[in-house]
Amino acid sequence: MKINTTPILNHTVTELAFSGSLPEDFPCGVTVTSSTVTGKIKNAAGYMTLTADISINYTQPCDRCLVDTEYSLEFALSAPVAVVGALEEDDDDYLFVKGDTLDITGRLAEEIYIHLPERHLCHEECRGLCQECGADMNKTDQAECGCTPKKIDAKWEKIKLMLDE
Ligand SMILES: [Zn+2]
Ligand SMILES: [Zn+2]
Repeated sequence: MKINTTPILNHTVTELAFSGSLPEDFPCGVTVTSSTVTGKIKNAAGYMTLTADISINYTQPCDRCLVDTEYSLEFALSAPVAVVGALEEDDDDYLFVKGDTLDITGRLAEEIYIHLPERHLCHEECRGLCQECGADMNKTDQAECGCTPKKIDAKWEKIKLMLDE
């Protein structure tokens, strides 16, 4: 996602709003299905700061049953902005303007990746896949999946543990 920073670089404005969306094949570890990015760059006495609100919908397989599920994610981003070569040392916090363009694609990909939840579950109670035959236990009746005895064994194990306590 590229922002033309000419108006703020030549001081025509001190605040530059931008908005857009991410491409579907956006490389951030998940499949982005829709997104909005809105933000602004402010110039305060030569110090530029970018703030943005990012909102995405994405699909990701459930960690337990592997079924593709839709999730959403929202977060805010704030970063200092400098023209490339203006700083004495490279600073990873900064977003750099090259020519008259600020490309925030890389930072957005990083930030989305960082903000993704640790677990993706289609729903909290997802029963996952049968460890014996791989059947989706959300769909399969225990009677249909031939591995029912194991399940009962597991239940008895739990009851036994409870009695032992
Ligand atoms: Zn699931
Ligand atoms: Zn099974």
